[in-house]
Amino acid sequence: MPHEFDPGYGAEPFRSLCQNYPDTTVFPPADFRVEWGPIFHRGRLDGSARMLVIGQDPAAHETIARRILVGEAGQRLQGFLHRLGIDRSYVMVNTFLYSVYGQSGGEKHKHDSGLVAYRNQWLDALLDGSGVEAVVALGGLADDAWTQWKATVTGKKYAGGYVKITHPTFPESSGAGDPAKKKANTKLLLQNWNAGMAVLHPLILHPDTPRPLVPYGNAFAPEDLQEIPEADLPAGLPAWMRSLKAWASRTGTTPASKRATITVKVPKGFMP
Ligand code: URA
Repeated sequence: MPHEFDPGYGAEPFRSLCQNYPDTTVFPPADFRVEWGPIFHRGRLDGSARMLVIGQDPAAHETIARRILVGEAGQRLQGFLHRLGIDRSYVMVNTFLYSVYGQSGGEKHKHDSGLVAYRNQWLDALLDGSGVEAVVALGGLADDAWTQWKATVTGKKYAGGYVKITHPTFPESSGAGDPAKKKANTKLLLQNWNAGMAVLHPLILHPDTPRPLVPYGNAFAPEDLQEIPEADLPAGLPAWMRSLKAWASRTGTTPASKRATITVKVPKGFMP
């Protein structure tokens, strides 16, 4: 069977956006992992997207796959889109082009003019005159990115829906390694996602597969995480890179070596 793949950034305006991405003068290396390069998007750039998702910043899996939201957060989000009947007609960009380094880098730079201007060019390219029926922001920084774009001339023209939902890995990032806290925060996240889906479902007039809205329970069930479609990743990436298995992590014994190292391991069950 032929393999699908993401055709990349050959068409304008994405070609120019990738040729002219901001460097360390805009994303200071003290606060962003610029050494791993920019990671631009995931999903359809051909105008077929009906939903646009604004994520936060790429992590280890995204850094290797060169597409955003492919790890745990992306798999949870893929399940969320599935419930809304969106299997293919989506596009995603992050608030930050590079992975944020440290706790406060995102907050510190969220209003930097060069960073905002470049991100707004992507949002213009994806939303101006598009068929996008709803935008979803994952967490507070993404919501702030949306607010900044919405205040622009192009942003004011956008007439589709908008919903902010809790970031998909909020239970982990807020759980401080405490399983009881993680469980309680997962329940809160899914209540928030249920409320978000109730707003979004009627706004999606052209789902890929119409589905009645089924709310989440109090915890992620195995089927709530969905694999990343093959069509979203660059040509030739192995199937395990879009599977539900974890395969990349930052390793190293010092902050500097950890920053310089991502360990990639073929997950069990994928070796020939
Ligand atoms: N990976 C991304 O690319 N974005 C997020 O918000 C989280 C993980």
